[in-house]
Amino acid sequence: MNTPLKKEYSNLGFDPDALREKYRAERDKRMRDDGDDQFLRTMDDYAHYADEDPFVEEPLEQDAIDREVDVVVIGGGFSGMMALARLKERGVEDVLLIESGADLGGTWYWNRYPGSQCDIESYCYLPLLEELDYMPKEKYSYAPEIYEHCQRIGEYYGLYDLALFQTRVTELRWSEDDSRWLVSTHRGDDLRARFVIQAAGTANTPKLPGIEGIHDYRGHSFHTCRWDYDYTGGDHSGGLTKLADKRVAVIGTGCTAIQAVPYVGEHAKELYVFQRTPSSVDARGNTLTDEEWYKSLEPGWQRARRENFADIVVGRPFEEDLVADGWTDIFRRVQSLLPPEEAVEGDPEELAFAAEVEDFRKMNEVRERVDKTVKDPAIREALKPWYRQFCKRPTFNDEYLATFNRPNVHLVDVSESRGVDRITEKGVVANGVEYEVDCIIYATGFEITSSPRRRINFDVVGRGGKSLFEHWDQGLQTLHGLSSHGFPNWFFIGVNQNGLSVNMTAMFDDQARHVAYIIDEVLGRGRTVAEVTAEAEAEWVAEIRRLAFANRDFLESCTPGYYNNEGELDDPSKGLATQAYAPGINAFNALLADWREQGDLQGFELR
Ligand code: NDP
Repeated sequence: MNTPLKKEYSNLGFDPDALREKYRAERDKRMRDDGDDQFLRTMDDYAHYADEDPFVEEPLEQDAIDREVDVVVIGGGFSGMMALARLKERGVEDVLLIESGADLGGTWYWNRYPGSQCDIESYCYLPLLEELDYMPKEKYSYAPEIYEHCQRIGEYYGLYDLALFQTRVTELRWSEDDSRWLVSTHRGDDLRARFVIQAAGTANTPKLPGIEGIHDYRGHSFHTCRWDYDYTGGDHSGGLTKLADKRVAVIGTGCTAIQAVPYVGEHAKELYVFQRTPSSVDARGNTLTDEEWYKSLEPGWQRARRENFADIVVGRPFEEDLVADGWTDIFRRVQSLLPPEEAVEGDPEELAFAAEVEDFRKMNEVRERVDKTVKDPAIREALKPWYRQFCKRPTFNDEYLATFNRPNVHLVDVSESRGVDRITEKGVVANGVEYEVDCIIYATGFEITSSPRRRINFDVVGRGGKSLFEHWDQGLQTLHGLSSHGFPNWFFIGVNQNGLSVNMTAMFDDQARHVAYIIDEVLGRGRTVAEVTAEAEAEWVAEIRRLAFANRDFLESCTPGYYNNEGELDDPSKGLATQAYAPGINAFNALLADWREQGDLQGFELR
């Protein structure tokens, strides 16, 4: 059938079947059967990669404390801060925030590597811009500005008075006798809370590659989220002059490496970048904020902008693309072929075909960008990504590719061996060659979609002594991704079975508002305990499973990574897209708004 879209694509200039085949072959080359087990957890012998804080100025000297509060919030990143802010707005003041870093910021406290920057437009990404009357300097803010914004939020909402920094929670245990959560910390604090909001973030637990010999290495090493400026010299903006006489290895080429490598390449004597899968590196094109435009925005603009962005990136029709960047590009192209109504009501197969073709075009452009920038033909080929744009988190950077034109920068393609072979006392072995280096920088990411036992750093022991890990062992079980049966007065903000957004901060804020509403309601009704019923939980899990596999074919076609659970799509205890509420964050928020509107806390038993 020659439908309007198919007609549009009658003369593509490339062969979609050949591209599909190439993508499949590149995926197959990288598939491993050990999933998350290929990674080393940052614990035991490797705990220092996560536990040591290179940024703390004054280590906390404080006796263990003994305290009872209404709410404990775990995590001082955006999700925890938003939870606290939304609770305070509702007048819930007896709150304690526990944070492992020495300040607010979470991801932005820890990730100070050179060049770190938000990849979502800052007008959408930075929360509370209207409330705090703050104008981001650029369309994509750099880490220091974001970290400063976290402190601004902390000051504005008085969060510093409520925070216990440099403290790691080691266990949560429900006490049936007095309906309190007993919160233990590594400092031996004895805390009791009526409610707990677990908001420890999604990128809080770094992981290392499980490479043979990693323990034998005698040189210096660190993970990107604990950047060692004492060793490299310089700061976030560069000037890593202490690397001038150093041979450095960077393992990993995801979002973090793309931002950091240009700075290391500029200063290191020799830099070896070990690449298993190339990232899609599109243009960044950062711009200064136009002050006049910013002042002209109408109240409510930030929510409207976030919703517009969220609708577009889940393929909903839109009248205007407010953000108009590399995240929305493909969707804009598809929609421009058809009026908005038809883009939704048109033949789904035809629309999927159009989306795939526009994706091919987009990725052809990304590959052409490599051709235009990188001089060496072999390196050029190795840097080309062969998968659809959203198989992995796409990256945007204007310096990364050109870094490989430097004579001191070497790309080591380890795709054939599915990773680096081995680490020795002296360096890294790949493709049978030993690269002796003075320092290894692990840009190998975080436990984002791994199993709960890997990504949650402490046990949560609920009613009847049941562990959360046990409850979630056969699959995540929640109502709205936020609470679980058997875990009264306990809420989890993050990426579970809720409306997912690539703009994480918007998602966290919406969840925070909802949780604050529930806690306020329970307190206001003079009740002690709110617990999700087994029935409500089962219904929600069924709904998630019913909807979630709409995108299974897509995820299956992708090269492995944390977006597709390293290829393990059938394990219901982990996942991002496979566990999310598929219609997206705006639909999820509408569903929660209806739920609140009903006013009966449906699905919760109050005692
Ligand atoms: P990722 O998980 O995206 O990347 C890890 C990298 O390590 C991949 O390139 C992976 O290769 C590689 N790797 C893993 N094991 C091996 C091995 N054995 N040998 C060689 N290479 C290996 O981590 P990032 O820290 O880059 O990013 C994580 C997330 O953090 C991002 O997706 C994003 O959500 C967030 N982030 C956000 C930023 C922002 O701008 N807001 C900036 C930075 C990070 P392979 O792909 O083959 O698995």
